[in-house]
Amino acid sequence: MDGITIALSKGRIFDETLPLLAAAGITPSENPEQSRKLIIGTNRPDVQVVIVRASDVPTYVQYGAADLGIAGKDVLLEHGGQGLYQPLDLKIAKCRMCVAVPKGFDYQAAVQRGARLRVATKYLQTAREHFGAKGVHVDLIKLYGSMELAPLVGLADAIVDLVSSGSTLKANNLVEVEDIMAISSRLIVNQAALKVKRELLQPLIDAFGKAVK
Ligand code: ATP
Ligand code: MG
Repeated sequence: MDGITIALSKGRIFDETLPLLAAAGITPSENPEQSRKLIIGTNRPDVQVVIVRASDVPTYVQYGAADLGIAGKDVLLEHGGQGLYQPLDLKIAKCRMCVAVPKGFDYQAAVQRGARLRVATKYLQTAREHFGAKGVHVDLIKLYGSMELAPLVGLADAIVDLVSSGSTLKANNLVEVEDIMAISSRLIVNQAALKVKRELLQPLIDAFGKAVK
């Protein structure tokens, strides 16, 4: 496309991006929750939105299939960020990455004993980095969702997951024992597209930047 393609995931990122798009004068013509369309037009003939899995957004932008995208810091750390320019923290979809264990599990004692912890997570890179920096030995078990279940059925001692209100942890008798980092979503831009299509992309980046402040 000669215009701009923006990669978004549906759900909270799409919802929280709408006001930012509006500030840039862009209104998607459909809501992906209602429509099954994966390519959504907007009020601007030169701007379209593609709907992809949250964890696929950086890949679409890296390869230039989308010029821009919005992705959580969690997703960007796992992806690695190759080929991406990350000009803005949009301060949307805020939560935190944490370590949680079943209530009653003595995490500090297990860590001090030098026990090999079994940790289930979708976030292998972040977990490896976190425990590596602390010198804690872990066996990481990759999951794709519902991490909260793993310690309840003996798959793992602990999980690394995203938390916002903490109600999912609470409902599953888990407690947060370590705060790893604050998470929010970032605007990502294909580095080559930024050079070639700067006159189209820069006004959008500027409008997003102003809307965040
Ligand atoms: P998928 O459903 O495709 O497996 P996902 O579950 O990570 O992906 P979402 O739940 O829509 O997708 O989350 C998208 C992004 O929103 C995450 O990458 C993260 O940055 C952020 N996020 C996740 N959970 C929360 C939360 N509880 N509160 C606020 N932001 C969150
Ligand atoms: Mg989800």
